[in-house]
Amino acid sequence: MISVSEAYDIVLSTAQQFGSETVPLQDSIGRILAEDIMADRPFPPFDRVTMDGVAIRFDSFDDPDQAYIIESVAPAGSIQRVLHDPMKCIEVMTGSVLPKGTDTVIRYEDLIIHDKSCKIQSIVRKGQNVHAMGTDHPVDDILLSSGHQIKAIDINILATVGKSSVKVTKAPSIAILSSGDELVPVVSNPLPYQIRMSNVHMLKSRLKELGIVGDHFHINDDQAEIKDTLMELIAKYDVLLLSGGVSKGKYDFIPHALTSLGVECLFHRVLQRPGKPLWFGKNKDFTVFAFPGNPVSTLSCFHKYFVPWLSASIGQKYIIPKVVLRYDVEFKPDLTFFAQAQVEFEDGKLFADISKGNGSGDMIHPAMMDGFVELPQGKSVYKSGEVYSFIPFYSLLK
Ligand code: AMP
Ligand code: MG
Repeated sequence: MISVSEAYDIVLSTAQQFGSETVPLQDSIGRILAEDIMADRPFPPFDRVTMDGVAIRFDSFDDPDQAYIIESVAPAGSIQRVLHDPMKCIEVMTGSVLPKGTDTVIRYEDLIIHDKSCKIQSIVRKGQNVHAMGTDHPVDDILLSSGHQIKAIDINILATVGKSSVKVTKAPSIAILSSGDELVPVVSNPLPYQIRMSNVHMLKSRLKELGIVGDHFHINDDQAEIKDTLMELIAKYDVLLLSGGVSKGKYDFIPHALTSLGVECLFHRVLQRPGKPLWFGKNKDFTVFAFPGNPVSTLSCFHKYFVPWLSASIGQKYIIPKVVLRYDVEFKPDLTFFAQAQVEFEDGKLFADISKGNGSGDMIHPAMMDGFVELPQGKSVYKSGEVYSFIPFYSLLK
């Protein structure tokens, strides 16, 4: 059996790229850019008026009693106006091009307008209320770099440079495979010795939250059926997320079936709780995460190993937040303990309250938790105030 850190390193060392694809702008949210986004024009593209008011030539302003005759009006979206008489002014609207012959804008709030002329009621600075062309970015500047994760705020940039479609990294195709004779579909009425399959739907939903569609399949604990299905999935998908059938039970046929199909076992069983029977392997470009079927084990293994592997494979930053233990925690077995916890910000720190639940089969308890605190092997008491890694079940900042 190997340690959690060894298992983690093996998993991450197999991260791989799955190429890129072009998606419509509106579908690019959350994806990772596979191209640099450049300024197609200077930013702003012209000397932009930032206030409704009048534009003057600064040098013409001498005396607050001076009256400026309004020569013309410059609406936004119109061709650049020209000030013919430098002692006059042009009415300008926010977003319009600063008229030729002017350099300064005075807002309506600082003007008294009477008939076709106005007087300035405030101190004037040369160039005020003008967003000068190219002062944010010159043309061809890189505005977003390849590898950046697209957030709603970035859609502004993509839209403004005319990217109606965007090149992003491609996610692997993923099959989710449940296993076990005791499992029945959600729509069924289970017999007394059966249960409805649940954790595979959780996996599918978590993938959906991560922007990936996973296809679900089921196999019974039957050697021939397992082998046939695995063979089909290996040919069709990049990744297989398996649930169940990897422990030491008499009907846990999956590890043998995988190796017989050429999937190399990179490790089986990890010094951790929950999730000790975790099996991980590869066949060329095909990667298998075989999670133990207990819902809490599936949950911890998926988040501890698969999510960082996926992030590395699609080029996404993976951040491991740290939490402060609020109370002492005792855990005697010489294993890494993924302890379920609720977390709360207090004075800028994230505090974790551990609540153990009834073991890895208790699937109701995690729904009240926020994630796992990773309490590393080699200790039996983890003290209040100590800081550990946190593995959230969902995006913490939403
Ligand atoms: P296994 O890893 O196959 O030994 O399964 C461990 C436990 O998890 C058993 O009690 C299974 O019934 C349960 N289990 C396996 N797969 C699922 C599933 N898809 N949904 C809910 N429970 C499951
Ligand atoms: Mg089973």
